[in-house]
Amino acid sequence: MDGDIVPWEKATVHVFTHALHYGSGVFEGIRAYKAEDDVLIFRLGDHIRRMMESAKLYSFDLPYSGEEICNAVIELIQRNDFHDSLYIRPIAFKGVGGINLDARATPTSVSIMAFPYRKYFNHDKLGLDVNVSTWRRIGEPAVPGLAKACGHYINSVLARTESAEAGFDEALFLDGDGHVCEGTGENIFLVKDDQIATPGFGSGILDGITRETVISLIRDLELPFTEREVARAELYTCDEAFFTGTAAEVAPILSIDRKPIGNGKPGRLTSKLMEGYGEIVIGRNSKYLRYVTSVYGNQQFVRATSETNSQIPRRVTE
Ligand code: PMP
Repeated sequence: MDGDIVPWEKATVHVFTHALHYGSGVFEGIRAYKAEDDVLIFRLGDHIRRMMESAKLYSFDLPYSGEEICNAVIELIQRNDFHDSLYIRPIAFKGVGGINLDARATPTSVSIMAFPYRKYFNHDKLGLDVNVSTWRRIGEPAVPGLAKACGHYINSVLARTESAEAGFDEALFLDGDGHVCEGTGENIFLVKDDQIATPGFGSGILDGITRETVISLIRDLELPFTEREVARAELYTCDEAFFTGTAAEVAPILSIDRKPIGNGKPGRLTSKLMEGYGEIVIGRNSKYLRYVTSVYGNQQFVRATSETNSQIPRRVTE
């Protein structure tokens, strides 16, 4: 918290914190995976870069460089002596400085949490039963949807709660124009006749790091792929559908609005991409070694670590 490592119970903030009232913060969700005798952080530099870009979109100053934040993530894991798979949550938020909505003069706090973590969705099921939310995804012209800002997530809370109340596992947002957008914390892909499609930035999605990784994998496998507007009706007639996200990883969708997708089981291409993604995150795909940062310096991954560190972002404003 603001440069110190503090015990979990002491990691508290004042009730007058600006971000608590107005959502004025930006954050990231990062995973680290247990691999051999090491822990590998997945695309650390890319997550921190996105956090700095989110901060820039809201004119929040960050008191640390990207390199300092990346190093703090590594140190936090080492100091906790974590050797399991983890979830890492860096957050930069406006602290105590009054009720003024223009928070430029309000100090920005930076905290990082890390804790052991396995699955986001119920692991007893092979995939997800999804509903199309009655709520649309937040975005332009009201807010910059590309920013991973705290306040934006009240939209996801609304949709996810509505979805759970109706007995679904996850909600899918349409954008303001009624095109398919994304989940409450995931991007979406559809497969029809072996053609893979996903909505692009024009549909108001978050620039998902898992999405981008899966697109690279699709290209490696030379599977037909397009990034395009996706109509709602395509959801109900596709052969396969899946979500991608740091927490969700690659998650098969089994039904949408109670209509089964394909045969109602994880599809062939979905399973292939789940497997490929699973290999990348634990450093088993040599092409993507640069995506993992070794926490404990296992020699097998150290070369990757030094390459990742050279890509760690400096301050956006520099
Ligand atoms: N969309 C939203 C709204 C999200 O919150 C997330 C999770 N960060 C994603 C998509 C997926 O992004 P990523 O793959 O970078 O976790």
